Amino acid sequence: MKLLNFKNLQLKTQTFVAITGLVLLMVTLNLGLFHLMHRSVGRLSAMVEIRVATNDLRKMAGTPTEGLPVIIERYGLHPDAPTRSEIGAGLERIETLIARLENSGMDGERMVQVALLRNMFATYTENFAKIEAELKEEADSAAINRYVQNIKDSSALVSEAASDLITTELNADEITKTALIERANREGSVFLFCTLMLSGLGFIAFYTYIMRDRILRPLDKIGRAMDRLATDASAMRERIVIPHADEIGKLAQHFNLMADGLQRYHERLEELVDKRTAQLESTRALLAESAKLSALGEMAGGIAHEVNTPLASIQLNVSILRELAKDPAPNMAKLTKTADRVEQTVERIAKIIKGLRLISRDAGQDPFASAPVAAVVDDAISLCSEKLNLHGVKLRCTPAAADLTVECRQVEISQVLLNLLNNAYDAIHDLPVRWVSVDALDLGSSVQILITDSGPGIPPAMRKKIFQPFFTTKALGKGTGLGLSISKGIIEAHGGSFKIDESCPNTRFVIQLPKVHPARRAG
Ligand code: ADP
Repeated sequence: MKLLNFKNLQLKTQTFVAITGLVLLMVTLNLGLFHLMHRSVGRLSAMVEIRVATNDLRKMAGTPTEGLPVIIERYGLHPDAPTRSEIGAGLERIETLIARLENSGMDGERMVQVALLRNMFATYTENFAKIEAELKEEADSAAINRYVQNIKDSSALVSEAASDLITTELNADEITKTALIERANREGSVFLFCTLMLSGLGFIAFYTYIMRDRILRPLDKIGRAMDRLATDASAMRERIVIPHADEIGKLAQHFNLMADGLQRYHERLEELVDKRTAQLESTRALLAESAKLSALGEMAGGIAHEVNTPLASIQLNVSILRELAKDPAPNMAKLTKTADRVEQTVERIAKIIKGLRLISRDAGQDPFASAPVAAVVDDAISLCSEKLNLHGVKLRCTPAAADLTVECRQVEISQVLLNLLNNAYDAIHDLPVRWVSVDALDLGSSVQILITDSGPGIPPAMRKKIFQPFFTTKALGKGTGLGLSISKGIIEAHGGSFKIDESCPNTRFVIQLPKVHPARRAG
């Protein structure tokens, strides 16, 4: 039963079945047409033949039949007269033609005329039979004459009736058999044209069904599903339903299989991405840690410089104190001043140690809080000023206004500034002109901090690269290439920007921070 389901056939089979059906339909219609034409032509040719036969009758009826001798002569003896068998054949022919006329599908009026003709013909044959019988029995000539008269009358009537019928039927004498056949052909052509038109329309209708319902619409459905798949990952869960087992149905099945595969692949990929992201996250944390350690190492070196000088100063002042203590009447003013200097230097060392402790810790989880910009800058400078000083690098710092504050993780911003100051030192400590400047500007809703050094600027080819993790031009073990990339991350987490000032003839990094953190501003 399933085999007979037209919708489940392959498209090429469907087309084949449809075309075969249409051809059969056309053949059947044309056979019917041929039959009708045949009947029509047969009927018309019967008419023509009956006319010929009627003429025969007319001829016979018009023959002089005066008295028995003539009849005898005509029917038996005279050489020109038709023989009995000839007359019999003529009658038979008329009989056959009348029968054909009856069978050729006539309307009611014609049928009546044919019936009349048949009656008259019957009278005619009856009379003829009577004459024959009388002749056999040698009946009296008066009777024969009467019969002969009857024959003449009825034959004239038959002739007239047949002639009428034919005249009516054939629409006057000039209609010939050829003209009739032509008429039939014309009718046939119209019929044939109609058949062809119908078949053509049927074919177009069927083809449209196949094209639209079975090909174009399903293809459109598949196409739209593909578009969705290309633009929206959630479309991977969609499946196409085409309830036919033809080629398009199979295409839809393949599409669904592909979507299954893609979905599985996508899920595996998501798992993999999660796994790799977790791995990357831990690697990033490790790297940040190692960058911090490296920075600490660098700082430890710097701290030696920072602490050494004040320690030497303390040592000097202690020896001055000792000398003063040897005096039985020490100069109290000088003694107090020296002791103050020692105290100040100790405070300076304490500040450096405090700054060191602060700056070396992980401040990534600290809350955002309003901090004076001057303090943020100071914390960074206190950890490198001595080093800069010792190597003849002049530090210029425009003091920020005391009320200029910024909402930030203070330690993180100081770490960024310290990294920039150390980078500046590394870049210029061998140059003949050595200076670094730190400027803080109030821009209204934001604060800008500029770190400029006497270097000639970052070459254009390197400007993008230096912010990438692990990019360093420093010797092995000296730089990690992480300072700027981590700094950029920190500044962006503050809702700010971190750039190189390309218009500056020297090397200048520009940090811009909103005074209020964007997350709070939005809230
Ligand atoms: P690192 O200092 O470990 O190399 P950074 O990310 O801090 O890593 O810096 C990356 C690179 O940027 C440095 O190696 C250096 O080539 C360049 N750079 C940074 N600051 C300056 C500067 N002030 N002058 C010239 N080059 C600099």
